[in-house]
Amino acid sequence: MANNNTSSFNYRKIAGTNRLSLHSYGLAVDINPFNNPVVYNDGRISPKGAKYNPKNVGTFTSACPIVQKFKELGWRWGGEFNSFKDYHHFDKILSN
Ligand SMILES: [Zn+2]
Repeated sequence: MANNNTSSFNYRKIAGTNRLSLHSYGLAVDINPFNNPVVYNDGRISPKGAKYNPKNVGTFTSACPIVQKFKELGWRWGGEFNSFKDYHHFDKILSN
């Protein structure tokens, strides 16, 4: 993430849990994580050294075309999560 890599399939658990991430099923994409870090409620940011600054090129906001397109296609944007902000993350929850 510190190298700003974009990634999707990654067989792993959700950080701090024993549950498989949607990345394990190829149903999640992380884009430019250094520009769009995870920001926890206590102020911690991952990856280390990253900052979320919507004025920087490549930083996502709800007004960005890529965010709007993912949402139009039924994907969630981590920048709208309630528990913490995962600005680089998009995922699709499949219904049965
Ligand atoms: Zn992700």
